[in-house]
Amino acid sequence: MPGEYIDLHIHTTASDGLLTPLQVVSIAAEKGLIVISITDHDTTDGFAQALKSAKENGIELIPGVELSCLYMESDVHLLGYYFNYEDSAFIKIIRKFREERYKRGEAMVAKLNDLGINLSMETVKNIAGSASVGRPHLAEALVKEEYVQTFDEAFARYLGYHASAYVPKKHFDIDHAIDLLHRIGGVAVLAHPGTLKHDEFIPDFVDMGLDGLEAYHSMHKRPMVNHYKNLAKRYNLFYTGGSDCHGPRKGKVLIGTVKVPYVCVEKMKQALE
Ligand code: AMP
Ligand code: FE
Ligand code: FE
Ligand code: ZN
Repeated sequence: MPGEYIDLHIHTTASDGLLTPLQVVSIAAEKGLIVISITDHDTTDGFAQALKSAKENGIELIPGVELSCLYMESDVHLLGYYFNYEDSAFIKIIRKFREERYKRGEAMVAKLNDLGINLSMETVKNIAGSASVGRPHLAEALVKEEYVQTFDEAFARYLGYHASAYVPKKHFDIDHAIDLLHRIGGVAVLAHPGTLKHDEFIPDFVDMGLDGLEAYHSMHKRPMVNHYKNLAKRYNLFYTGGSDCHGPRKGKVLIGTVKVPYVCVEKMKQALE
């Protein structure tokens, strides 16, 4: 396994990615990845759809999810791995979060309407399909209806954290989210700490039972990767990584572009035992 690579952070059309779960598996196979995880926002539908094909391609597909948590008024993303995705309480909880995401989509459409933008939830629904609704679906709708020229402009003008039509999501309390993942046999990993930019939170999360840090990420340059590997060692956590690919939205498909070594999976499995 040394010299082989993995990607533990990938989104699909089940949330705000552009690639279907089957496309993700086939790209991962082309890139020679041996382990991947589909970590959609508040859903494991994409994971379930990819299982058979991953097996056929000799790829280990780890159950994954990305949960949005609130801590000190920051949007903190938590990745869960290896949990029992068939746990009925868990399924119910994330379904509730998806319903809340839909309502939040409606609230953002209402805000846009107040700003004189005549976007309808119908258009957003046509883009999202059965996916867990996120701001990227609204951004696409705004591009499609020509209210903005680009996806990034949609965030800059309307959908970004401080923009005019932003509505916060329903968030998990991070201690509850960590407990939930543990209860269903999984591990909890802090997603892209380099974009969170609040390293001072990490000791608090460790006290809450955090298991790992996402050291490798498409937004983390090399020194940052090393920084989070060191922090992980200091707090006795394991470290993982992934591309956080959302498909070819910004041109390039990121799957496999972040070189995450296989040893990360071994360390994660050891932590589970
Ligand atoms: P949501 O979970 O609905 O709040 O949407 C968050 C998602 O929107 C992230 O996972 C990214 O995929 C995307 N996103 C967030 N901020 C931006 C931004 N400034 N530009 C482009 N995409 C963004
Ligand atoms: Fe996303
Ligand atoms: Fe995230
Ligand atoms: Zn993500």
